[in-house]
Amino acid sequence: MTDRDTRHQKAMQKLKAHVDERVAKATEQRGQLLVFTGNGKGKTTAAWGTVTRALGYGHRVGVVQFIKGMWECGERERLTDDPNLEVAIMATGFTWETQNREADTAACREVWREAQRLLADPDVFLVVLDEITYMLKFGYLDIDTVTRALANRPREQTVIITGRNAHRELLAMADTVTEMQEVRHGFNNGLEARRGIDY
Ligand code: ATP
Ligand code: MG
Repeated sequence: MTDRDTRHQKAMQKLKAHVDERVAKATEQRGQLLVFTGNGKGKTTAAWGTVTRALGYGHRVGVVQFIKGMWECGERERLTDDPNLEVAIMATGFTWETQNREADTAACREVWREAQRLLADPDVFLVVLDEITYMLKFGYLDIDTVTRALANRPREQTVIITGRNAHRELLAMADTVTEMQEVRHGFNNGLEARRGIDY
């Protein structure tokens, strides 16, 4: 073995010991609260990736989409035949298109009822609340209602929240928070959203 190989082997042994120690400490099994936020691309994509992962093990999954403007969605098209997947979509257009606070609030409350049902069902392994952060920001939903439903959910249930500007109380109660940081987005250089890539 060269010096370089020996050094590498030693470094890997050290790394393995470090990883093993951390893995040994992480033993708690329960549902989690994950928040995917930030201005960069990938929040909803990551949520659907996790939905696919859960469905892959035969778990029941509920996805609640809080902005119908994101209506077209290839993942949903692909996964919709799975009897373990349930999708609820807010029955209104883009909030900045409808410009009708009353109608938007009513539509939001309606789809929130579906979310509440999922959040109370111990047979549902994963619930995605896609773009719910905007509902809180616009005041269509109040934070206490949401945090209460999250806190009282079944112990084994995981919830993923997506959207920009996540409320600090959601960040505080989450097990895992990922902020997608925008380094660059093609949209700002004239690239139109692409079917099958951006939705
Ligand atoms: P995606 O659905 O691609 O994972 P996202 O959920 O992180 O994106 P949203 O804010 O929900 O981001 O954006 C919805 C749409 O806008 C998607 O078509 C997405 O590709 C696009 N998009 C995401 N981030 C940006 C950005 N920083 N600038 C412009 N468009 C974006
Ligand atoms: Mg999104």
